[in-house]
Amino acid sequence: MKVAVFSSKPYDEEHLRKASEDIGLELAFFEPQLTAQTVALTAGYDIVCCFVNDVIDNTVAAALKENGIKLVAMRCAGFNNVDLEACARHDLPVARVPEYSPNAVAEHAAALILDLNRNIHRAFSRIRENDYSLSGLMGFDLNGKTVSIVGGGRIGQTMIRIMKGFGCRVLCYDPMPSDALLETGVELVPLEQVWAESEIISLHCPLLRSTYHIINSNSLSQMKRGVMLINTSRGGLIDTPAIITALKNGKVGYLGLDVYEEEAGLFFEDYSDQVLQDDIFARLTTFKNVVITGHQAFFTHEALQAIAEVTLNNILHFEKGELDQMCLVKT
Ligand code: NAD
Repeated sequence: MKVAVFSSKPYDEEHLRKASEDIGLELAFFEPQLTAQTVALTAGYDIVCCFVNDVIDNTVAAALKENGIKLVAMRCAGFNNVDLEACARHDLPVARVPEYSPNAVAEHAAALILDLNRNIHRAFSRIRENDYSLSGLMGFDLNGKTVSIVGGGRIGQTMIRIMKGFGCRVLCYDPMPSDALLETGVELVPLEQVWAESEIISLHCPLLRSTYHIINSNSLSQMKRGVMLINTSRGGLIDTPAIITALKNGKVGYLGLDVYEEEAGLFFEDYSDQVLQDDIFARLTTFKNVVITGHQAFFTHEALQAIAEVTLNNILHFEKGELDQMCLVKT
């Protein structure tokens, strides 16, 4: 089978090539995102392998089908960028990598918490400027603080364990708690309690219609003054203009982001010689109490290796008609 890999970076190629040694798949690596403009590149291939910011909408799904593509193999967990109904209409199954390293993402969320709390980013800049003063760098002990996890899936459960390790009181909101979540012993609470009682809130739910802009002016108004918000999940969970207002008036005391609603076309690329065109994102970067990373929470050796292995397994099972062995996204 011939596989067209989109949004490909050297590290994707390295891990996919290594994992595909001796299994007879023909992989072609394309740097551009899969969009209506680039979908023509898929002609002559059997499978497309896509990432978080590729656009698989109705137009793209129709063109994929016309070009003879038989499977959309996502090499990520999220699939909010895929129009599943359109794919079903065009008889295109969608596979994904449901779990690769919950540790990678949860540890990154914890890193954002520690960085923001202890002002590591500001201390780093000061030391380089020969400035060893401590004013403005004071943090708070995590021990005893209330931390809420919104979405107690694989990553959320790992985050629960990490924050318990710091001695925090950990709450969780999840409308469909699994047995594995209950086994963590976390206190399950309604969202209103999350907003009202937390010093720190970390988002680990998927982006769905029900979670779109879950952080908005209404939920922000119910939070403690100075709350720390962490989003390593999907940008669309946060209404960015609302959070900018909350940062300006002090309602939000700290913000750690690994994802941003308009990140497609911005993240994963080097635009250091260009003028930033997104005024909302530009405003976010001006706050001293905001730390942003460019969707790198998944980016560990262990995670990339696991992503490559599961993606190729999905493809191999598809080739053999073993659909029940694949991690297929259900519509
Ligand atoms: P998961 O499917 O294991 O868990 C998601 C949990 O969210 C489930 O327990 C589900 O019941 C819960 N949920 C569903 N609707 C909810 C709602 N309305 N409110 C609260 N919780 C709700 O997923 P996971 O592997 O833990 O990943 C979570 C998210 O992390 C993914 O959807 C993805 O968007 C994001 N992610 C980000 C990166 C990154 O690099 N930044 C990497 C991987 C995953």
